Amino acid sequence: MEHSGQPKANEPVVSLDAVIIGAGFGGLYAIKKLRDDLGLDVLAFDTAGGIGGTWYWNRYPGALSDSESHVYAFSWDEELLQEWDLKRRFIPQPEILRYLEHVAERHDLNRSIRLNTRIVEAAFDESAGRWMVTTDKGQKYSAKYLITALGLLSATNVPTIKGQETFKGDIYHTSRWPKDANIKGKRVGVVGTGSSGVQTITAIAPDVKHLTVFQRSAQYTVPSGDGPLRPEEVAQIKKNFRKIWDDVKNSPLGFGFELSATPTMSVSEEERERIFNEAWKVGGGFRFMFETFSDMGVDLAANKAAQDFIRKKIGEIVKDPETARKLMPTELHAKRPLCDAGYYETFNRPNVSLVDIKATPIVEITPNGVKTADGVIHELDVLVFATGFDAVDGNFKRIELRGRKGLRIQDHWKDGSSSYLSVTTSHFPNMFMILGPNGPFSNLPPAIEIQVDWIGDVVGYMESHGVATFEATEQAEEEWGRLCAEIAEQTLFAQTASWIFGANIPGKKKSAYFYMGGLNAFRDKLKEATGTKFKDFKLEKEKEHRLA
Ligand SMILES: Cc1cc2nc3c(=O)[nH]c(=O)nc-3n(C[C@H](O)[C@H](O)[C@H](O)COP(=O)(O)OP(=O)(O)OC[C@H]3O[C@@H](n4cnc5c(N)ncnc54)[C@H](O)[C@@H]3O)c2cc1C
Repeated sequence: MEHSGQPKANEPVVSLDAVIIGAGFGGLYAIKKLRDDLGLDVLAFDTAGGIGGTWYWNRYPGALSDSESHVYAFSWDEELLQEWDLKRRFIPQPEILRYLEHVAERHDLNRSIRLNTRIVEAAFDESAGRWMVTTDKGQKYSAKYLITALGLLSATNVPTIKGQETFKGDIYHTSRWPKDANIKGKRVGVVGTGSSGVQTITAIAPDVKHLTVFQRSAQYTVPSGDGPLRPEEVAQIKKNFRKIWDDVKNSPLGFGFELSATPTMSVSEEERERIFNEAWKVGGGFRFMFETFSDMGVDLAANKAAQDFIRKKIGEIVKDPETARKLMPTELHAKRPLCDAGYYETFNRPNVSLVDIKATPIVEITPNGVKTADGVIHELDVLVFATGFDAVDGNFKRIELRGRKGLRIQDHWKDGSSSYLSVTTSHFPNMFMILGPNGPFSNLPPAIEIQVDWIGDVVGYMESHGVATFEATEQAEEEWGRLCAEIAEQTLFAQTASWIFGANIPGKKKSAYFYMGGLNAFRDKLKEATGTKFKDFKLEKEKEHRLA
């Protein structure tokens, strides 16, 4: 059903069945599911000036998926899977955006989306059993369901450094890269060497006069192996799409390749070297971590073997021994794996220099550049923050979001964000989260699909059974949180400071933000919830709700 009305500030509240926040992969599929499959009256809102979420915002040079192109898409539109032109192994940002825009047009989703509109407040009205939602333009909507598709790598993390406001040049964050950005022939500094930093640095080095890389953490990254797909590869993928997607949704990582079952130390040193070298040639960060051996993420000796291999590669690639030393990580290889288009090689360019800001921290930004603790002023025309995101729950905390009895999400999550099965959280009835906290650590489009399909099933059940409110119990949420923490603790990821555990944001509670038990197991848990008639949820019938 279409909703055409657009209230102005001070106009009466517009009544809908569902408000969706976000118009990326998650929001788009939620519109399709609730509006077209269930016939509900829905509107989606996005702060952005266009649809696409991540791929609308992240326009920095070199922005590329690290999921392979044939599994970084929706599987629910089989016809489009066949029609879409698969060009390369990984998809650059403009192409993903074009794909999502095409999906929106093809399924007539745009008429249900209001762009340039931030949701500033959403509060559950217990007497009405409805969400009251307010936009930054003062418009008010009331809806039975609130669907959050806020993105887990979306709330930008912009550092505040002394003197920042005095800088005479331009400052960009990678995820807010301006359309008219001009770096050609300029002296550019990049702060941060996570995924966006690695991609940006590699892409812009040939174009700038000088590039200064401010490195907080040295990174393990492997070649992406990106390149055009051969026609026979495309034909093979298209022939097997159904099986590929079936495998994706039934695998722990959802990346479309088989995980190795071989422990690292079960083979000889020569064989290990051969397998690592082969993976280095094939490319892909996730493949290197999970297709080579079975235990890089859980076994110290296995992890050390991978670290040593990559450190050796850095030593072979990077000509200046001091730069090579600074680029060599000393910690575990247990962050979200990275891949690149020649990152280490970039440091052989005469116009690129590396500053280790763990050894010589940035002390301030001056009108002309960045001053480090050794007193050096690195003169710059442009400063790029590749400092990532307040991941997973960042955007929730930027909304005045209140559940039962006015409970604010910040208070509910004061000891770290939590959920039951990533999609629900107690005290917030009828709020369904797409990629909420403690969701699968996997390729994300299939995780999104699995979650939206489940949300659709629940909403369909509520509509056909006269259910007024649906809410996770506190106990179920606590148990899920405990399980996520227990699983994470068994991995080496938990011993490494990264955004996966909230370590990149000063003051953020360190906890397990993901369920590391696998996408397939996660899917089974959701099926179990449906199969047991939602025993871990509180359901209130329409009549009971009115009586209460
Ligand atoms: C550079 C980069 C590369 C990535 N590569 C991969 C990859 O290769 N594989 C992979 O699986 N994942 C990747 N990811 C993760 C990626 O975010 C997900 O794959 C996917 O795009 C998430 O879709 P989403 O709809 O959940 O969220 P998003 O695409 O992040 O969309 C969320 C939207 O919600 C909007 N929003 C938030 N708060 C509000 C509000 N209060 N009011 C209105 N609108 C709001 C935002 O503006 C945003 O547009 C990458 C992320 C980044 C940043």
